[in-house]
Amino acid sequence: MSLETEQMNEMHWLMEMLHTIDVGLVVLDRQYNIQIWNGFMENHSGLLPREVKGKALFELFPEIPKEWFVRKSESVFMLKNKAFTIWEQRPYLFKFQNYRPITGTADYMYQNTTFIPLMSSTGEVTHLCLIVYDVTDNATHKKDLEQANSELEVLSQTDGLTQLFNRMHWESCLKSEFKRWQRSANPSCLVMIDIDKFKNVNDTYGHVLGDEVIRHISEKIRYHVRETDISGRYGGEEFAVLLADTTLENAQVFAERLRREIENSVVKYNDIDLKYTISLGVAEIDESINNYEAWIECADAALYRSKENGRNKVSLHPKQG
Ligand code: GH3
Ligand code: MG
Ligand code: MG
Repeated sequence: MSLETEQMNEMHWLMEMLHTIDVGLVVLDRQYNIQIWNGFMENHSGLLPREVKGKALFELFPEIPKEWFVRKSESVFMLKNKAFTIWEQRPYLFKFQNYRPITGTADYMYQNTTFIPLMSSTGEVTHLCLIVYDVTDNATHKKDLEQANSELEVLSQTDGLTQLFNRMHWESCLKSEFKRWQRSANPSCLVMIDIDKFKNVNDTYGHVLGDEVIRHISEKIRYHVRETDISGRYGGEEFAVLLADTTLENAQVFAERLRREIENSVVKYNDIDLKYTISLGVAEIDESINNYEAWIECADAALYRSKENGRNKVSLHPKQG
Protein backbone atom coordinates (compact mmCIF):
# COMPACT_ATOMS: atom_id res chain seq x y z
CA MET A 1 0.00 0.00 0.00
CA SER A 2 1.46 3.39 -0.94
CA LEU A 3 1.92 6.04 1.73
CA GLU A 4 -0.68 8.13 0.03
CA THR A 5 -3.27 5.34 0.07
CA GLU A 6 -2.46 4.64 3.69
CA GLN A 7 -3.02 8.26 4.60
CA MET A 8 -6.23 8.32 2.58
CA ASN A 9 -7.43 5.24 4.42
CA GLU A 10 -6.58 6.70 7.81
CA MET A 11 -8.40 9.86 6.93
CA HIS A 12 -11.40 7.89 5.77
CA TRP A 13 -11.45 5.80 8.96
CA LEU A 14 -11.13 8.86 11.12
CA MET A 15 -14.06 10.49 9.37
CA GLU A 16 -16.08 7.31 9.78
CA MET A 17 -15.29 7.15 13.50
CA LEU A 18 -16.15 10.80 14.09
CA HIS A 19 -19.41 10.30 12.27
CA THR A 20 -20.48 7.29 14.33
CA ILE A 21 -19.03 8.16 17.76
CA ASP A 22 -21.67 8.48 20.48
CA VAL A 23 -21.05 12.16 21.22
CA GLY A 24 -22.14 15.19 19.25
CA LEU A 25 -19.53 16.93 17.09
CA VAL A 26 -20.26 20.29 15.51
CA VAL A 27 -17.85 22.68 13.79
CA LEU A 28 -18.83 26.33 13.48
CA ASP A 29 -17.14 29.06 11.54
CA ARG A 30 -16.48 32.59 12.77
CA GLN A 31 -20.04 33.63 11.81
CA TYR A 32 -21.59 30.70 13.72
CA ASN A 33 -22.54 28.85 10.57
CA ILE A 34 -22.47 25.07 10.81
CA GLN A 35 -19.66 23.37 8.88
CA ILE A 36 -19.56 19.87 10.33
CA TRP A 37 -22.40 17.84 11.83
CA ASN A 38 -21.82 14.24 12.83
CA GLY A 39 -24.13 11.23 13.07
CA PHE A 40 -25.02 11.81 16.73
CA MET A 41 -26.25 15.32 15.89
CA GLU A 42 -28.07 14.01 12.84
CA ASN A 43 -29.82 11.23 14.78
CA HIS A 44 -30.97 13.45 17.61
CA SER A 45 -31.94 16.53 15.62
CA GLY A 46 -33.38 14.72 12.61
CA LEU A 47 -31.39 17.10 10.38
CA LEU A 48 -28.92 15.73 7.81
CA PRO A 49 -25.43 17.24 7.48
CA ARG A 50 -26.32 18.66 4.06
CA GLU A 51 -29.43 20.29 5.48
CA VAL A 52 -27.46 22.21 8.10
CA LYS A 53 -24.19 22.90 6.30
CA GLY A 54 -23.57 26.63 5.98
CA LYS A 55 -26.73 27.48 7.96
CA ALA A 56 -26.71 29.83 10.94
CA LEU A 57 -26.72 27.92 14.23
CA PHE A 58 -29.10 30.31 15.97
CA GLU A 59 -31.68 30.16 13.19
CA LEU A 60 -31.80 26.37 13.21
CA PHE A 61 -31.76 26.15 17.01
CA PRO A 62 -33.55 29.14 18.51
CA GLU A 63 -33.39 27.45 21.95
CA ILE A 64 -29.69 28.38 22.15
CA PRO A 65 -29.42 31.71 23.98
CA LYS A 66 -27.47 33.71 21.42
CA GLU A 67 -25.98 36.39 23.66
CA TRP A 68 -24.67 33.87 26.18
CA PHE A 69 -23.36 31.52 23.50
CA VAL A 70 -21.55 34.28 21.59
CA ARG A 71 -19.96 35.63 24.76
CA LYS A 72 -18.65 32.20 25.66
CA SER A 73 -17.46 31.42 22.12
CA GLU A 74 -15.77 34.78 21.60
CA SER A 75 -13.50 34.07 24.55
CA VAL A 76 -12.60 30.73 22.95
CA PHE A 77 -11.80 32.48 19.64
CA MET A 78 -9.81 35.25 21.31
CA LEU A 79 -7.98 33.40 24.08
CA LYS A 80 -7.57 30.14 22.16
CA ASN A 81 -8.72 28.29 25.26
CA LYS A 82 -11.30 25.58 25.78
CA ALA A 83 -14.58 26.39 27.52
CA PHE A 84 -17.22 24.17 29.12
CA THR A 85 -20.83 24.22 30.04
CA ILE A 86 -22.36 21.59 32.32
CA TRP A 87 -25.94 20.45 32.78
CA GLU A 88 -26.16 21.88 36.31
CA GLN A 89 -25.64 25.37 34.86
CA ARG A 90 -27.68 24.85 31.71
CA PRO A 91 -29.51 21.52 31.26
CA TYR A 92 -28.88 21.41 27.48
CA LEU A 93 -27.51 23.34 24.55
CA PHE A 94 -29.54 21.56 21.86
CA LYS A 95 -33.05 20.64 22.92
CA PHE A 96 -33.08 16.96 21.99
CA GLN A 97 -35.69 14.54 23.23
CA ASN A 98 -34.66 11.84 25.63
CA TYR A 99 -35.40 8.39 24.22
CA ARG A 100 -33.56 6.26 26.73
CA PRO A 101 -35.83 3.68 28.33
CA ILE A 102 -34.11 3.62 31.74
CA THR A 103 -34.05 7.37 32.10
CA GLY A 104 -37.52 7.79 30.69
CA THR A 105 -38.32 10.25 33.44
CA ALA A 106 -36.33 13.05 31.79
CA ASP A 107 -38.16 14.92 29.04
CA TYR A 108 -35.02 15.98 27.23
CA MET A 109 -31.39 15.03 26.92
CA TYR A 110 -29.17 16.62 29.55
CA GLN A 111 -25.88 17.73 28.01
CA ASN A 112 -22.40 18.81 28.92
CA THR A 113 -20.66 20.69 26.13
CA THR A 114 -17.00 21.47 25.48
CA PHE A 115 -15.99 24.33 23.19
CA ILE A 116 -12.64 23.75 21.46
CA PRO A 117 -10.77 26.35 19.39
CA LEU A 118 -9.69 25.02 15.98
CA MET A 119 -6.58 26.68 14.61
CA SER A 120 -5.70 27.23 10.95
CA SER A 121 -2.14 26.61 9.69
CA THR A 122 -1.40 30.28 10.38
CA GLY A 123 -2.21 29.86 14.08
CA GLU A 124 -5.43 31.80 13.89
CA VAL A 125 -8.60 30.40 15.44
CA THR A 126 -10.98 30.33 12.52
CA HIS A 127 -13.43 27.69 13.72
CA LEU A 128 -14.94 26.34 16.85
CA CYS A 129 -15.68 22.71 17.66
CA LEU A 130 -18.50 21.78 20.01
CA ILE A 131 -18.43 18.38 21.66
CA VAL A 132 -21.84 17.52 23.08
CA TYR A 133 -22.06 14.76 25.68
CA ASP A 134 -25.33 13.06 26.60
CA VAL A 135 -25.29 13.05 30.44
CA THR A 136 -28.98 12.24 30.95
CA ASP A 137 -28.20 9.11 33.01
CA ASN A 138 -25.93 11.01 35.39
CA ALA A 139 -28.30 13.92 35.69
CA THR A 140 -31.39 11.83 36.41
CA HIS A 141 -29.55 9.68 38.93
CA LYS A 142 -28.28 12.76 40.68
CA LYS A 143 -31.75 14.31 40.67
CA ASP A 144 -33.32 11.08 41.97
CA LEU A 145 -30.73 11.01 44.72
CA GLU A 146 -31.43 14.62 45.67
CA GLN A 147 -35.16 13.87 45.76
CA ALA A 148 -34.60 10.77 47.93
CA ASN A 149 -32.34 12.75 50.24
CA SER A 150 -34.86 15.50 50.73
CA GLU A 151 -37.58 12.91 51.43
CA LEU A 152 -35.27 11.23 53.92
CA GLU A 153 -34.60 14.55 55.56
CA VAL A 154 -38.34 15.13 56.06
CA LEU A 155 -38.74 11.58 57.37
CA SER A 156 -35.85 11.99 59.80
CA GLN A 157 -37.50 15.13 61.19
CA THR A 158 -40.97 13.67 61.52
CA ASP A 159 -42.58 11.46 64.12
CA GLY A 160 -44.18 8.48 62.40
CA LEU A 161 -47.34 8.23 64.52
CA THR A 162 -48.32 11.90 64.52
CA GLN A 163 -46.49 13.50 61.58
CA LEU A 164 -45.42 16.24 63.96
CA PHE A 165 -41.72 17.06 64.28
CA ASN A 166 -39.83 14.53 66.35
CA ARG A 167 -38.15 15.64 69.54
CA MET A 168 -34.68 16.01 68.06
CA HIS A 169 -35.79 18.25 65.22
CA TRP A 170 -38.22 20.17 67.38
CA GLU A 171 -35.44 20.92 69.87
CA SER A 172 -33.17 22.14 67.11
CA CYS A 173 -35.98 24.52 66.02
CA LEU A 174 -36.34 25.71 69.61
CA LYS A 175 -32.61 26.34 69.78
CA SER A 176 -32.77 28.49 66.61
CA GLU A 177 -35.78 30.37 67.97
CA PHE A 178 -33.90 31.06 71.21
CA LYS A 179 -30.98 32.52 69.23
CA ARG A 180 -33.39 34.57 67.11
CA TRP A 181 -35.00 35.93 70.28
CA GLN A 182 -31.57 36.98 71.60
CA ARG A 183 -31.17 39.18 68.52
CA SER A 184 -34.75 40.46 68.12
CA ALA A 185 -36.23 40.25 71.64
CA ASN A 186 -39.70 39.74 70.14
CA PRO A 187 -42.06 37.90 72.48
CA SER A 188 -42.05 34.14 72.02
CA CYS A 189 -43.87 31.41 73.95
CA LEU A 190 -43.43 27.74 74.58
CA VAL A 191 -46.39 25.48 75.38
CA MET A 192 -45.88 21.99 76.85
CA ILE A 193 -48.82 19.61 76.75
CA ASP A 194 -49.30 16.27 78.52
CA ILE A 195 -52.28 13.93 78.31
CA ASP A 196 -53.94 13.40 81.69
CA LYS A 197 -54.00 9.92 83.21
CA PHE A 198 -52.91 8.39 79.96
CA LYS A 199 -51.77 5.22 81.67
CA ASN A 200 -55.41 4.56 82.49
CA VAL A 201 -56.35 4.81 78.80
CA ASN A 202 -53.73 2.22 77.88
CA ASP A 203 -54.56 -0.01 80.82
CA THR A 204 -58.33 0.12 80.26
CA TYR A 205 -58.56 0.06 76.46
CA GLY A 206 -55.15 -1.07 75.25
CA HIS A 207 -52.33 0.58 73.35
CA VAL A 208 -54.13 0.69 70.02
CA LEU A 209 -56.74 3.06 71.37
CA GLY A 210 -53.95 4.86 73.24
CA ASP A 211 -52.26 5.50 69.90
CA GLU A 212 -55.57 6.70 68.49
CA VAL A 213 -55.75 9.31 71.26
CA ILE A 214 -52.20 10.44 70.48
CA ARG A 215 -53.16 10.87 66.83
CA HIS A 216 -56.32 12.73 67.85
CA ILE A 217 -54.52 15.35 69.91
CA SER A 218 -51.86 15.74 67.19
CA GLU A 219 -54.55 16.58 64.66
CA LYS A 220 -56.07 19.12 67.03
CA ILE A 221 -52.68 20.73 67.63
CA ARG A 222 -52.03 20.92 63.90
CA TYR A 223 -55.45 22.45 63.36
CA HIS A 224 -54.99 25.19 65.95
CA VAL A 225 -51.44 26.33 65.24
CA ARG A 226 -50.42 28.91 62.66
CA GLU A 227 -48.06 28.07 59.83
CA THR A 228 -45.14 29.73 61.60
CA ASP A 229 -45.68 27.80 64.85
CA ILE A 230 -43.54 24.72 65.40
CA SER A 231 -45.16 21.67 66.94
CA GLY A 232 -43.44 18.49 67.99
CA ARG A 233 -43.99 15.22 69.80
CA TYR A 234 -41.77 15.75 72.78
CA GLY A 235 -42.21 12.33 74.38
CA GLY A 236 -44.72 9.46 74.41
CA GLU A 237 -47.83 11.49 75.25
CA GLU A 238 -46.16 14.87 75.61
CA PHE A 239 -46.23 17.57 73.00
CA ALA A 240 -44.58 20.94 72.63
CA VAL A 241 -45.59 23.95 70.57
CA LEU A 242 -43.39 26.93 69.93
CA LEU A 243 -45.39 30.08 69.25
CA ALA A 244 -43.00 32.57 67.71
CA ASP A 245 -43.86 36.29 67.89
CA THR A 246 -46.61 35.59 70.40
CA THR A 247 -47.20 37.23 73.78
CA LEU A 248 -47.96 35.24 76.93
CA GLU A 249 -51.55 36.53 76.79
CA ASN A 250 -52.08 35.22 73.26
CA ALA A 251 -50.32 31.95 74.02
CA GLN A 252 -52.73 31.50 76.92
CA VAL A 253 -55.66 32.01 74.55
CA PHE A 254 -54.23 29.31 72.26
CA ALA A 255 -53.65 26.91 75.19
CA GLU A 256 -57.13 27.45 76.65
CA ARG A 257 -58.78 26.93 73.28
CA LEU A 258 -56.92 23.65 72.78
CA ARG A 259 -57.67 22.49 76.33
CA ARG A 260 -61.38 23.19 75.90
CA GLU A 261 -61.57 21.57 72.50
CA ILE A 262 -60.00 18.36 73.82
CA GLU A 263 -62.27 18.41 76.87
CA ASN A 264 -65.30 18.61 74.59
CA SER A 265 -64.30 16.06 72.00
CA VAL A 266 -64.79 12.33 71.82
CA VAL A 267 -62.43 9.75 70.31
CA LYS A 268 -64.51 7.08 68.63
CA TYR A 269 -63.01 3.65 68.21
CA ASN A 270 -65.19 0.66 67.33
CA ASP A 271 -68.01 0.95 69.88
CA ILE A 272 -65.95 2.91 72.41
CA ASP A 273 -66.51 6.64 72.94
CA LEU A 274 -63.52 7.93 74.84
CA LYS A 275 -63.15 11.30 76.49
CA TYR A 276 -59.83 12.59 77.77
CA THR A 277 -58.21 15.81 78.94
CA ILE A 278 -54.84 17.51 78.74
CA SER A 279 -52.75 19.69 81.02
CA LEU A 280 -50.70 22.55 79.67
CA GLY A 281 -47.84 24.81 80.79
CA VAL A 282 -46.96 28.06 79.02
CA ALA A 283 -43.69 29.99 79.35
CA GLU A 284 -42.77 33.21 77.63
CA ILE A 285 -39.08 33.73 77.02
CA ASP A 286 -37.51 36.45 79.15
CA GLU A 287 -34.11 37.80 80.24
CA SER A 288 -33.89 35.37 83.16
CA ILE A 289 -33.82 32.38 80.79
CA ASN A 290 -30.26 31.70 79.69
CA ASN A 291 -30.66 28.85 77.24
CA TYR A 292 -33.33 26.85 75.49
CA GLU A 293 -33.14 23.99 78.01
CA ALA A 294 -34.05 26.43 80.79
CA TRP A 295 -36.96 27.62 78.70
CA ILE A 296 -38.29 24.03 78.49
CA GLU A 297 -37.87 23.70 82.27
CA CYS A 298 -40.00 26.81 82.84
CA ALA A 299 -42.82 25.47 80.62
CA ASP A 300 -42.48 22.07 82.32
CA ALA A 301 -42.74 23.65 85.78
CA ALA A 302 -45.96 25.38 84.69
CA LEU A 303 -47.28 22.08 83.32
CA TYR A 304 -46.46 20.42 86.64
CA ARG A 305 -48.60 23.02 88.42
CA SER A 306 -51.53 22.23 86.12
CA LYS A 307 -51.21 18.57 87.18
CA GLU A 308 -50.88 19.54 90.85
CA ASN A 309 -53.97 21.71 90.64
CA GLY A 310 -56.22 18.93 89.41
CA ARG A 311 -55.28 18.48 85.70
CA ASN A 312 -57.26 19.71 82.65
CA LYS A 313 -55.75 23.16 83.24
CA VAL A 314 -53.49 25.79 81.69
CA SER A 315 -50.77 27.30 83.93
CA LEU A 316 -48.46 30.15 83.08
CA HIS A 317 -44.83 30.50 83.98
CA PRO A 318 -44.71 33.97 85.52
CA LYS A 319 -42.61 36.31 83.48
CA GLN A 320 -39.53 37.35 85.48
CA GLY A 321 -39.04 41.09 85.61
P1 GH3 B 1 -50.51 12.24 84.24
O1 GH3 B 1 -51.86 12.81 84.23
O2 GH3 B 1 -49.79 12.48 85.50
O3 GH3 B 1 -49.70 12.67 83.07
O4 GH3 B 1 -50.69 10.67 84.11
P2 GH3 B 1 -50.21 9.69 83.00
O5 GH3 B 1 -50.87 8.38 83.20
O6 GH3 B 1 -50.38 10.30 81.66
O7 GH3 B 1 -48.70 9.55 83.41
P3 GH3 B 1 -47.41 9.45 82.58
O8 GH3 B 1 -47.19 10.69 81.80
O9 GH3 B 1 -46.30 9.10 83.52
O10 GH3 B 1 -47.67 8.22 81.64
C1 GH3 B 1 -47.50 8.22 80.30
C2 GH3 B 1 -47.89 6.90 79.72
O11 GH3 B 1 -48.03 7.03 78.33
C3 GH3 B 1 -46.92 5.81 79.93
C4 GH3 B 1 -46.86 5.03 78.63
O12 GH3 B 1 -47.32 3.73 78.79
C5 GH3 B 1 -47.81 5.78 77.73
N1 GH3 B 1 -47.27 6.01 76.38
C6 GH3 B 1 -46.14 6.67 76.09
N2 GH3 B 1 -45.98 6.67 74.73
C7 GH3 B 1 -47.02 5.98 74.18
C8 GH3 B 1 -47.42 5.64 72.84
O13 GH3 B 1 -46.75 5.97 71.85
N3 GH3 B 1 -48.57 4.94 72.68
C9 GH3 B 1 -49.31 4.58 73.73
N4 GH3 B 1 -50.43 3.89 73.50
N5 GH3 B 1 -48.97 4.86 75.00
C10 GH3 B 1 -47.85 5.56 75.24
MG1 MG C 1 -46.18 12.24 80.50
MG1 MG D 1 -49.60 12.11 81.09
